[in-house]
Amino acid sequence: MMYTDDQMLMLSGIQHYMFCPRQWALIHIEQQWDDNRLTAEGKQLHQNVDNPSYRQKNGNTITLRSVHIASHSLGLYGVTDAVELLPSDDSTDAITHPRYPGFWKPFPIEYKRGHHKSDESDEVQLAAQVICLEEMYNIHIPEAALYYHETRHRETVMIDEQLRNLTYELSEAMHKVFESGSTPKAVKNRGCRSCSLIDICEPGLRSKPSVATYLKRSLDEETA
Ligand code: SF4
Repeated sequence: MMYTDDQMLMLSGIQHYMFCPRQWALIHIEQQWDDNRLTAEGKQLHQNVDNPSYRQKNGNTITLRSVHIASHSLGLYGVTDAVELLPSDDSTDAITHPRYPGFWKPFPIEYKRGHHKSDESDEVQLAAQVICLEEMYNIHIPEAALYYHETRHRETVMIDEQLRNLTYELSEAMHKVFESGSTPKAVKNRGCRSCSLIDICEPGLRSKPSVATYLKRSLDEETA
């Protein structure tokens, strides 16, 4: 399936969706957001990383910042933290750059505040970026990297079939929930403690209605 421009969702949401579909829906459907320490630190990190005018040539590698990307097969759009361009002897799976002659192989890098997570939410976000670049340039990108600020460690991630399938499954699920306009119920989980929306969500107390449902109920009561 190819999504239209009107159906495109924010790529960065895929990590939220994997962490907790309700968190994603609260942010992306209901537009609720509550900064906690973790998200504030993450934002600060990205302010340092995201600089659209930044282009660095270091030896044989060019680093591009804040590259706008999109994939109609995923129905996602966003901005990458960084894409390294590595020199290539030929045009296979490579792109050209208007400023630097020759062929270059893109290698996306996503910067993260903490350390390696127990789930694959970071890997999925990275894979979505790779799929976007592949679709935009009609190339294949076999690997990319995650950089963890806390441990100052760069991990190479193989973008294999399992990760690609998971990325497509999650994006499809996001689109289905978005089309339904209905926020999934709260299910208390391990991530709740670090969730920036815990006060809004109140997991374990009761499942709160979505804002749309709440407004409709209020109107129904008023007109009853
Ligand atoms: S508090 Fe827990 S259930 Fe609620 S959005 Fe966050 S992770 Fe999901």
